[in-house]
Amino acid sequence: MLKSIKNTDIAGKRVLVRVDYNVPINDGKVMDDTRIIRSLPTIKYLLDNNAKVILISHLGRPKGEIKPELSLKPVAEHLQSVLGFPVRFSSENTGEDLRSTILTMEEKLILLENTRFHPGETKNDAEFAKELASFAEVFVSDAFGTVHRAHSSTVGVSQYLPSAAGFLVEQEYTRINSAMQSPKKPSIAIVGGAKVSTKLDVINNFIDKVDEIIVGGGMVYTFFLAKGKQVGDSLKEADMVDTARDLLQKAEKKGVTIHLPLDIALSKTFDEPWLENGEVKVVSWDTIPDGSMGLDIGPKSIKSFSNVINAANTIIWNGPMGVFEKELYRVGTAAVAKAVVERAVDTVIGGGDTAYALNLSGFDEIPEIIHISTGGGASLELMSGLSLPGIECLME
Ligand code: AMP
Repeated sequence: MLKSIKNTDIAGKRVLVRVDYNVPINDGKVMDDTRIIRSLPTIKYLLDNNAKVILISHLGRPKGEIKPELSLKPVAEHLQSVLGFPVRFSSENTGEDLRSTILTMEEKLILLENTRFHPGETKNDAEFAKELASFAEVFVSDAFGTVHRAHSSTVGVSQYLPSAAGFLVEQEYTRINSAMQSPKKPSIAIVGGAKVSTKLDVINNFIDKVDEIIVGGGMVYTFFLAKGKQVGDSLKEADMVDTARDLLQKAEKKGVTIHLPLDIALSKTFDEPWLENGEVKVVSWDTIPDGSMGLDIGPKSIKSFSNVINAANTIIWNGPMGVFEKELYRVGTAAVAKAVVERAVDTVIGGGDTAYALNLSGFDEIPEIIHISTGGGASLELMSGLSLPGIECLME
């Protein structure tokens, strides 16, 4: 079981909290603060218990170099405006000066500069981990988005301090794990996104865990090839065709139905839509003509997928049904999102893209029974049944 902060002695202590503030920033402004908001319950709990909170996070991929455009300073400013009290920012994340600042500062909260400015961070360097650990008496991991990475700030520090999971990591882990381990029947997985190769483990694991699987997105064309059909210029992975065939056979043997799209919305090229009388051209899945590519599922697929969703009692969703970034090819993903939200049964939605696609669908309110993960790679790996180093180091 995960060690919870509720069972950890944090009152009045200096607590190092790894958060995931890897948020989009434009012109020094935070564009989407979902991850910041989701970190607040842990921060508030610690502050209510008179702890001094030292926040650490990465932002982007500076590769061990100081890149001013990847500074966390705008995040500190945003956090301060959300919390309504002073948040100190340190442009350093190591050193004696920082240590004495932390020991003497009046503010209850300090955010240190991007951990990935330090060359040791992504190598899980022990010296950097020790240095971070030396600022505090307890370590709390609340960065679900990075628990699949063994870095100094996610795993390394846990070797030098009593460690616990924050509320976000606890909630993410518990919700995704329980949907995977004990789904209510009939349980379904919806898997989409670009490629079979990046979702192979997850599809394999879904076949072992759920009753039915809906497949959409760019990966369907490799399945269509496995069924001996032509797919025009659609996204395909020739070296994955045999694997796709194996997955279909494995599912059949296990009695797991795989629902592939019945029809496809076409584009002439990636950037030139195929319109007829102002409508996107749709064809049956097995008649995709040369000189065209499938960028979304069609209306028959939407109907059949919605029927499956409407009968499900657990839903696990990872990956969009089409190129949702383009308005014309967002219809399938939006319709699946609508069906999932209206069904309102135990649901976990993972993968950064899926959560973003859901946001685009513009729901006023999403019922609490639907868990939207803040982790892309992390939720994918958890759904794939892999063990995550940033979780393992928090187990009792
Ligand atoms: P993933 O990161 O694997 O979940 O993939 C998400 C990406 O898949 C999104 O950027 C979509 O635009 C892309 N995608 C979905 N459907 C298709 C498609 N039919 N052709 C090309 N790309 C797609």
